[in-house]
Amino acid sequence: MVNELESEILRLKQEKGAMIFAHHYQIDEVKAIADHVGDSLEMARIAADSEADILVICGVSFMAETAKILSPSKTVLLPNLGAGCPMADMVTADDVRKAKEADPGLKVVCYVNSSAEVKAESDICCTSSNALKVVSNLEAERILFVPDQNLGGYVSKQCPEREIAVWRGFCPTHHRVESLDVARTMAKYPNAYLMVHPECRPEVLDYADFVGSTSQIINRCRTIEAQTIVIGTEVGVISTIRRENPGKEIVLLDDVMVCPNMKKTTLEDVYRVLRDGTNAIEVDENIREKAFGAIDAMLKVR
Ligand code: SF4
Repeated sequence: MVNELESEILRLKQEKGAMIFAHHYQIDEVKAIADHVGDSLEMARIAADSEADILVICGVSFMAETAKILSPSKTVLLPNLGAGCPMADMVTADDVRKAKEADPGLKVVCYVNSSAEVKAESDICCTSSNALKVVSNLEAERILFVPDQNLGGYVSKQCPEREIAVWRGFCPTHHRVESLDVARTMAKYPNAYLMVHPECRPEVLDYADFVGSTSQIINRCRTIEAQTIVIGTEVGVISTIRRENPGKEIVLLDDVMVCPNMKKTTLEDVYRVLRDGTNAIEVDENIREKAFGAIDAMLKVR
């Protein structure tokens, strides 16, 4: 049942010609009022193609920046300005600039989970779905992959012919799980099919039956026959998968897989930014153009 706050949000959304986007890791109440639930690039692309002039991005700051990079003429609102990403903060534009100055043959691939400034200094972006394809297709003597050591390491292992240096950043939510935690859960569900996100540690990936992005995990759950599935990614995805697969037992790999930043956005925050038009995200035009170039280069990879 729609409560008073939800109906006010829906009313304001219509009145202002806004659209609400929520990342899979958001709380269920926020996902319930969103026009679209998806991963960061998916949200930004659909937002750019939409008719809406105001985009409310329920996620963390780099997601709102990515939406602004693709939609410079639209107003992009981030409901909670305190929602950042510790992994994105583990590399700076200056770090990337210095690495390139030190090695002119270096090309930089940056995971979309990074700041606009870092994207602007990178040659090309990637997502967890297309990282392997992006790296395989890149013409470069040497590659630096930023900021996630686990996704970078996963790609590097599958491209032994490429010279890839990997930045030592990590997502605390995924990196926290160790092989002993996997062993403990799998001992409880010995016949379960294990799917994990490539932001997990390599030893956790080694255990998995399937490694994929959030969307790839959601899609795979729809098609596999296994009745018990253990999922190693942020807890927010679990409710979506359970709802879509009512006959299957869906288990979170470890209870620690919660991103505190993704849980900061509340319905009250969404209501407030819609009502007041506050928390608009701006990206310097010079940085935006360069960051757009890195995203566009990725979108051209087939
Ligand atoms: S789950 Fe990890 S990568 Fe995603 S916002 Fe949280 S800390 Fe950043």
